Amino acid sequence: MLKKNRIAGAFAGLAVAALALTACNSGTPGAEPGATEGAGGAAETPWTVATDVTLEGSPTFDKITSAGVVKVGVKEDQPGLGYLDPVTNTRSGFDVDIARWIAASLGYDEDKIEFQAIASANREQALVNGDIDYYVGTYSITDKRKQQISFAGPYFITGQGLLVAADNDKITGKDALTADDTVCSATGSTSIQRIKEETQAKTKEYDTYSACVEDLKNGQVDAVTTDEAILIGYAAQAPDQLKVVGEPFSEERYGVGIAQGDTAFQTFINTMFTDGGSTWQAIFDKNLGASGVKATQPQVDAAD
Ligand code: GLU
Repeated sequence: MLKKNRIAGAFAGLAVAALALTACNSGTPGAEPGATEGAGGAAETPWTVATDVTLEGSPTFDKITSAGVVKVGVKEDQPGLGYLDPVTNTRSGFDVDIARWIAASLGYDEDKIEFQAIASANREQALVNGDIDYYVGTYSITDKRKQQISFAGPYFITGQGLLVAADNDKITGKDALTADDTVCSATGSTSIQRIKEETQAKTKEYDTYSACVEDLKNGQVDAVTTDEAILIGYAAQAPDQLKVVGEPFSEERYGVGIAQGDTAFQTFINTMFTDGGSTWQAIFDKNLGASGVKATQPQVDAAD
């Protein structure tokens, strides 16, 4: 039994060895990594679709089993993390692949996943209502949210940053913001709350960060604030117009949002993250590796 097989980016060379080792790790819930050919010759994935999965005492798993589909809440306007290509109608991103890996570990392939875009402000309610089985979309673990839902993870750690126009040399970081600046962020996010609490800047809110980015490009706002991993994705799409500035000024620990108190499901996902071998790293490398986002897989926190 492999006890600890997290692979940090710097040790990617160990991935092959870990892959071989985890293949013996059959007690893990569907988490064995390994390139596989999906139905219809789909692209290779670093996870396999598990078979004969059972999960005692999980209301979410029971619901999924009777529906025959997995309902997943995601973002779809955050390149590199959660993105729906309007031309090809395909979803991509680190979070989307984490969501697919969870579904595969439960025994459900791509064609049995129903993705639903849910804005930051509506995540808790969607989980409380049972509209979705789980949520994977730059969702920070916070005590306030834990009053309504539970989290598995963390599976990723980033920090809040600022995105400004490429030719802006005045806003160099959070401390350079003044009452003359207007900063845009998403309603219901930790980002909008922190910028209100910790700066004098005026704020503007939308449901999505992409709406803020449009305003920034049009000169309607001076900066967009949210997690650096998100901002880097927007900057990469328009490097002549946008840049990320300053040091990150918070710690955002991303969790998988699940129904409150479904500890069996929480343990299942946490075990997947812990025993998943090189799968996390493969998902990171594929989606964020080239972006300049720096991260290693965080240790799962049983207290979440
Ligand atoms: N991670 C932060 C949050 O959960 C900001 C990103 C988002 O809104 O998804 O509030």
